[in-house]
Parts: sequence; structure tokens; C-alpha cells
Amino acid sequence: ERNSGPLLRLENVVQKFGGLVAVNNVSFEIRKGEVKGLIGPNGAGKSTTFDLVTGVRPPTSGEIHFNGIRVTRQPAHTRSPMGMARTFQIVRLFRGLSVLENVQMGMHPAFPDGLLPSILRSAERRRQEAESRKRAMKLLDFVGLADRAGERIETLTLGQLRLVDIARALASGPDLLMLDEPAAGLNDAETRNLAEMLALLKKRGMSMLLVEHDIDFIMSACDTVVVMDHGTKIADGTPAEVSRNREVIAAYIGR
Ligand code: ADP
Ligand code: MG
Repeated sequence: ERNSGPLLRLENVVQKFGGLVAVNNVSFEIRKGEVKGLIGPNGAGKSTTFDLVTGVRPPTSGEIHFNGIRVTRQPAHTRSPMGMARTFQIVRLFRGLSVLENVQMGMHPAFPDGLLPSILRSAERRRQEAESRKRAMKLLDFVGLADRAGERIETLTLGQLRLVDIARALASGPDLLMLDEPAAGLNDAETRNLAEMLALLKKRGMSMLLVEHDIDFIMSACDTVVVMDHGTKIADGTPAEVSRNREVIAAYIGR
């Protein structure tokens, strides 16, 4: 085991946009296997915090550690090989490719080019391609979309696209799955289906960070919840703990 501490640790993270403090000295941790929710009223700083964790931009100050490694200033694309994977609220999948190919896009190549002699390489390529298809199929099966594998991505509904995006994120074999408003725009049946899938992932030990507007969804899906308001963390605890927190109640009722 590389690291016996928390999987993710934010320490006094600050993000300023000019004179505006969007994230004000926020600290929290995600333990291995923990599902953490991040909620708060509009403008609370949720998306900005999510961007700092995923590496969209570095914070103005503070530190972020993942698996014991300092990632504060690591750009987003370097975080996937480290074991962090994210989904997008506006799903960014590849039009013209099949559902299966889109999931395969989430895998990083096991061997960079030039490491193997060319004959070996073509055999190795075919083996890798077969392996990649097999793994992608398994993931599609997991999200309940195996029967759509060969279809073009643009034929799917929003609910299905979100599931493909999760399968794509899982394809990299992450230690931490970060979901940006996964339930946004989904109907009740799709939301229930998504909740069931996340529960199954949680059961399998996946650590997750969920940013979501749907409070009922967060409260039922998460072990612990961070509540933000005006850039500040106002609560961090189990759903039961945060939902009886006066400051949390005031933040939601006060507007
Ligand atoms: P939430 O996701 O909780 O609704 P955000 O993190 O999007 O909140 O925004 C927090 C605050 O930071 C808001 O006041 C918002 O207007 C501001 N903000 C967010 N992103 C930027 C940016 N790129 N430039 C300037 N201000 C921003
Ligand atoms: Mg937001």
C-alpha cells in the first residue's frame, strides 16, 4: 500500500477570481471507499472546488494531495493516470463513434509506442485491442447498456449518455471517481437507475466525490457530505448530521 492516509485531502484551499473569493479556505478529506457529496446553494463554490480537485485550474493557495502525492498544480490530463477520473455535466463523448468505442476512449494505452519491436507490437496491439473491447463490454454491462454497444453514441438519451460517461471514466480504473451533477436533467426513473448504479459501485469499494443539486439524491448516495455557502465550508458530516445543522438549514432556507 502506497499510502495509508486519506485518498484525497484538500488543505486550506482558496480560489480567488479578482476580488471575489469563490472558495475560502476549504479543507476536507475523502477516505478510501468513502462517497463524499458536495452541496450548497447556487454560487456556493461547488463547481470551483470540483475544478480544483479535477485540475481544471490550480488554486490561488492551499494544497491538494491525492494518494499521498501533492497534485495541487498538476494539470487535469496528468491526474487520470494517477487514478482520478471524472464525468462531465455536459457529457463530452465522441460523435460518430460507437457506444463501445466511447468507453474504450477512457482507457490509457498500456504501452507507449516504440517500447516493443514492430512484429511483437502488432500482435501485442491486437491482444490489447481485444482486451480493451472485453473490458469496455464488461463496463457497459455494468451500467446496463451492453445491448447498445454497437450503436452510435448520438442515438442515446441523456440518461444513457451519463451512464456511458461513467463507464468511460471507470475504464481508466480509477481510485477516485468524481461526478459533476450526474442527476442533472434526468427523469425520476433515470435518477433511480443512476442511484442504484452508484450504490453498487460503492459496494464494490469505489471512492467518489459527487457534486449535485439534488439534495435527496446526495443524502441517500453519500457517506458524508460537505456543505458550502459563499465559498466557505459550513458543515462536513454524515447526511443525518448535516441535515440538522443550523447553519445548513439557514443557508438553504435563507434564500
Ligand atoms: P456553485 O457551483 O456552487 O453554484 P461556483 O463555484 O460556480 O458556485 O461559483 C462560485 C462563485 O465564483 C460565484 O460567485 C461565481 O460567479 C464565481 N465564479 C465561478 N467561476 C468563475 C470564473 N471563472 N470567473 C469569475 N468568477 C467565477
Ligand atoms: Mg455549479
